[in-house]
Amino acid sequence: MGVVLIDEAHQAGATTRAEMILRVEALRKSFRSGSQEITPLEGIDLSIESGELIAIVGPSGSGKSTLLHLLAALDTPTNGTVYFAGNSLCSFSETELAEYRNHTVGFVWQRHHLLPDFTAAENVAMPLLVCGTAVGEALRTAGEWLGEVGLGNRAEQRAGELSGGEQQRVALARALVNGPSLLLADEPTGDLDERNADAIFELMQRLHRSHHLTSVIATHNLQLARRANRVLVLEHGKLTPGGEQLPGSSPSMDRQGSSGTVSPGERG
Ligand code: ADP
Ligand code: MG
Repeated sequence: MGVVLIDEAHQAGATTRAEMILRVEALRKSFRSGSQEITPLEGIDLSIESGELIAIVGPSGSGKSTLLHLLAALDTPTNGTVYFAGNSLCSFSETELAEYRNHTVGFVWQRHHLLPDFTAAENVAMPLLVCGTAVGEALRTAGEWLGEVGLGNRAEQRAGELSGGEQQRVALARALVNGPSLLLADEPTGDLDERNADAIFELMQRLHRSHHLTSVIATHNLQLARRANRVLVLEHGKLTPGGEQLPGSSPSMDRQGSSGTVSPGERG
């Protein structure tokens, strides 16, 4: 199984630095659309240490989702490699990939993708049920997670009846219920108003710390991004460190604006 392999890899010193959890080498991804080829990722190199909280910013269509999908093994690169704890995802068997997707990675989408007719607890319990946990045990664990995201009293509410911010909290609990070490979030606050976006980002930071996660968050929101340990800019197929000057001075990169100053914030 993937997890066993990974521990062995750590012990054998297969990673150059024991704390380097994710490494991306010359990652390229192309899509064919009719006669056209689109290459959102042209050769990405990236190393992420265990415990880092990284924000990836970039204009719409720059490849943020594509990159997160490759990190989560939800898609395969055209060229290049993603390593988890020193192991190439390409070398994983189907069983190891399923283990990686279900237990190592917790993924949060911009739209929560909850099942609206099921309760909050049932939605959070779903990944546990899929992995064979008994119903009672799964619902109990889901209830604990709902408590962690501040919705302990809403467990029996149908997901479709919750507000946007509450639904994203449920989605976060669902992403973490299987105890992943990586949290990958694709514009998790993109559909929320400023107050809710702020609260969700703060919650992710808190969970990142308390559950010793390594987190990669794609966001349009530069004000939120600068709370990360590191800000990386994805543009024209390349990933560059977000130094003093990041594109767009406004809080949202959707808006056109002049260059602004963003420096990475405190450790997650
Ligand atoms: P972002 O998340 O930064 O908005 P995406 O990763 O969604 O960007 O998309 C990057 C580019 O790749 C876009 O031009 C998009 O249309 C294209 N793209 C993404 N997924 C596919 C796909 N499955 N098939 C064809 N083109 C795709
Ligand atoms: Mg996207």
